[in-house]
This record gives sequence, structure tokens and C-alpha cells, in this order.
Amino acid sequence: MRKVYNFSAGPAVLPNEVLKQAADEMLDYKGTGMSVMEISHRSKIFEEIINNAEQDLRSLMNIPDNYKVLFLQGGASQQFSAIPMNLMKNKIAHYVITGQWAKKAYEEARKYGSAIKAASSEDKLFTYIPDCSNLNIDTNSDYVYICENNTIYGTKFKNLPDTKGKPLIADFSSCFLSEPIDVTKYGLIFGGAQKNIGPAGVTIVIIRDDLITNTPLQETPTMLNYKIQADNNSLYNTPPCYGIYICGMVFKWLKKLGGLEEIKSINYKKAKILYDFLDESKMFRNIVEPEFRSIMNVPFITGNDNLDSTFIKEAKQAGLENLKGHRSIGGMRASIYNAMPIEGVQKLVDFMKEFELNNI
Ligand SMILES: *Cc1c(COP(=O)(O)O)cnc(C)c1O
Repeated sequence: MRKVYNFSAGPAVLPNEVLKQAADEMLDYKGTGMSVMEISHRSKIFEEIINNAEQDLRSLMNIPDNYKVLFLQGGASQQFSAIPMNLMKNKIAHYVITGQWAKKAYEEARKYGSAIKAASSEDKLFTYIPDCSNLNIDTNSDYVYICENNTIYGTKFKNLPDTKGKPLIADFSSCFLSEPIDVTKYGLIFGGAQKNIGPAGVTIVIIRDDLITNTPLQETPTMLNYKIQADNNSLYNTPPCYGIYICGMVFKWLKKLGGLEEIKSINYKKAKILYDFLDESKMFRNIVEPEFRSIMNVPFITGNDNLDSTFIKEAKQAGLENLKGHRSIGGMRASIYNAMPIEGVQKLVDFMKEFELNNI
């Protein structure tokens, strides 16, 4: 048992079992007398670690054979550049703007071609997901881009856009492995590991074969070239070995738990406990349109900045860590990723009830 519940949006909570096993293996990984941090990325031992991680991820997400899995670095933000550099052949792509991360990806893409806002929810401070059932997509558009789960605003796509046949590219940073998805609906799925999978430093890209080509923009750095990374099985240079090892253990933890159907049911239970309370509370509220609520990131406010900061301070004293909202919008945010146990959410709600009674 740990002393606190960590609601950080990222880097975020990891399963106790995984961290314990990592601690046990720290000085001597499987009788090698060495730490995973100390072994060659070209060794048999590491080969096994990265191959097992890939196989377990494939089985968890049911990733078809015509998709490559890449373990890269640079964070989700670096993919904001890699995606247009590799995929913008006709130099035109469509972006759905549902928050700051989508906006950053869009701004980055504008450096390499014509990035077009296909839809946006900025008019209402990103508190909803725009209707994407009939987007105006150019016939020669290279792809349609979305941010599947909006970490800062707490919204999530419940219906995927009609891309008019163009590949769908999705930032999964804050909802990776939170529930089963149909990988075949996407051309490319990517995300930083530090929200729901493992330590910062690993970026996962799942990309359909036909999108890996020999013709990225000419100035594309070697390290950002999907073809080169795929041909080298993510070992073109030294990968984030230790981070991949932790991700692999998280995959095993999820499999043992029952896979993505099971974690989905747990995640929905956790989210329901919190949203049900927010909907009945007279002090706290969530301002997202209910049908677009995220099950991973739950922002809430009292409407009074002073009360918000008192709440965050007292919650911390009660062992509820990192409840401060994103610096751009303030308020509070509880990130309740896979590794957050139901008891953590229950404890948060109990604390909120008590705080409300004491401060009304
Ligand atoms: C955190 C986050 C990012 C940025 O990730 P980095 O790995 O820090 O670059 C991008 N997109 C989403 C949806 C995020 O939650």
C-alpha cells in the first residue's frame, strides 16, 4: 500500500505490482547480475524484452499484422512533426481542433503543408466534441487528424469522424489501453507512454503498412522517418530500453487483469463514481457536455478560485495528490488512468463530500 493516491495527468500513476517487480529486478535482471538499464540494446535479453512488449501490446489491442508497432522517443509532441513529414504527400491534411494538443499538432503541420481546420470546439472552450459526421474533406487530403481524448478539457470522441476514406490519425496519449478499440479504423495511432502506459521517454506509434513509404518530405530527419524506424524494428539507435521494459510489465499486468474489456469496465465504474457525485454536488461541477465526457481525465470547478486552491491544498494533506487543473484553465482535474484503483476515486469523492459540508 502506498500513502497517497496520485491523480496526476502525466507522468502518472503506475501499478504497484509493476513498480515492485521493477524494484525487485533493479540490481539483477533475471540472473544477469545487471540492471535492465545497464544491458545492451542489441543483447538477446533486451531483444526478448522489446519483442515480448510488442507481442503483448498486439494481443491486448488486437493489432492486425498489417500494422507496425514502433517504440520511439521524443514524446507525443515529436509526432506532431513526424506525422506531416511522413504522411503529407499532397501537402494537405485536415485537423479536428478539440483542444490544445490538437491545436499544437495543427500548428506544427502548417509548417509542412496546408493544414486545414475541418471542425473545432474552440467556440465553447473545448467543452464538447464537434459533429464530424459530414466533414468537408478535400479529395486529395492526405489524412484526417484527431485527438481521441482531450487530457486538459476532459472530452473524448464517442463517434469517430467520417474521414471520407482518408486515413484517420489519432493522438491516444491519454486514453491508450483504457478500453478496446478497433485498430482497423485508424491509419496511425500514437501517444506518449507517460499517461496510461509507462514512464516518460517512450512514444508508441501503431501505423498501417501502406502509410510507411519511402517518400517522406525530403528534409525529414532520419530519426523521424517511419520507414527507417520500422525497417530497424525500433532499434535504429538506442531506444528507451528501461522505459520499454516498464511498458512491457504494464502490458502483462493488464493481460493478467483480464485485458481491455476488463479494464474498460473498471474505468467506467471509476468515472461513474466521480461524475455521479459531481452531478449531485452543490459545490463542485464538471462543465463538459455529458455525452462527451472522458473516462480518464475529469476536470471540475467550484466557480471560486480561492475555494479551488483551498480544496487542492487540503486534498494534498489528505493524501490526494496532483488535483490541480492544467495551468491553462485552472480549477481541478482528477486523472483516473488504468492504474488508479477504485478505492482512490472513492476516497476522493468522500473527501469532496466532506469538503463541501465544511465549506458551504
Ligand atoms: C500529454 C499529451 C501530449 C504531449 O505529450 P508529450 O509526450 O509530453 O509530448 C500530447 N497529446 C495529448 C493528448 C497529451 O495528453
